[in-house]
Amino acid sequence: MPFFVARSRRDGRTRIRDSVARCIMADLSSELVNGLKSKLRGQVLQPGEAGYEEARQVWNAMIDRRPALIVKSAGTADVIDTIVFARDNGMLLSVRAGGHNIGGLALCDGGVTLDLSGMKSVRIDPTALRAYVEPGATLGDFDHEAQAFGLATPLGINSTTGVAGLTLGGGFGWISRKYGTTVDKTVSTPCPMS
Ligand SMILES: Cc1cc2nc3c(=O)[nH]c(=O)nc-3n(C[C@H](O)[C@H](O)[C@H](O)COP(=O)(O)OP(=O)(O)OC[C@H]3O[C@@H](n4cnc5c(N)ncnc54)[C@H](O)[C@@H]3O)c2cc1C
Repeated sequence: MPFFVARSRRDGRTRIRDSVARCIMADLSSELVNGLKSKLRGQVLQPGEAGYEEARQVWNAMIDRRPALIVKSAGTADVIDTIVFARDNGMLLSVRAGGHNIGGLALCDGGVTLDLSGMKSVRIDPTALRAYVEPGATLGDFDHEAQAFGLATPLGINSTTGVAGLTLGGGFGWISRKYGTTVDKTVSTPCPMS
């Protein structure tokens, strides 16, 4: 199942509030941003750059947030480097999977948005009846792979929803009355900590 990004609880709520205040004023030097770019396989987008406006669209079109950086992660190493970058620079971090959260929680104003939507791999082990799902996979991506083996698991109704965000909310869908929720069927969620 998808891996989840958790914020360290060492400093609790105060640290998060501090991060918000600092990130609004964050003055990211090009040296700092280029340093991040040089570490990643994925893309780093800043306001004004090609692809930035598209990357800050989520399902709820009323959401209008402008991250200072959008990192389109290509793999786990990018995820780790982005979390470390946000932490070291005192910046707010938001995580985007399928982008269906109605409140637009996948995006943050002035901080770093870690966009996992490009990490869509789904691998089915039909013998063990296990699915290994990257954090950007949608319900449609999952079903496409699972149905090749005649398999299914409880997910949601709309195929463009992200597996990760849906699982975090429990996940209720077409076959839940018979088989339970998505989280009932989740075996593990590897979780990088900052
Ligand atoms: C049209 C529509 C239909 C829906 N239908 C259903 C349904 O049938 N059943 C159901 O149960 N729900 C349904 N939902 C609700 C949906 O499950 C939630 O909105 C869910 O949050 C969407 O997940 P996402 O990955 O697409 O969204 P995102 O907005 O990308 O993520 C949702 C939240 O999860 C966090 N998050 C995502 N990935 C990670 C990660 N790897 N680590 C840490 N945090 C992460 C994000 O930061 C955000 O706060 C529906 C929503 C919509 C808009």
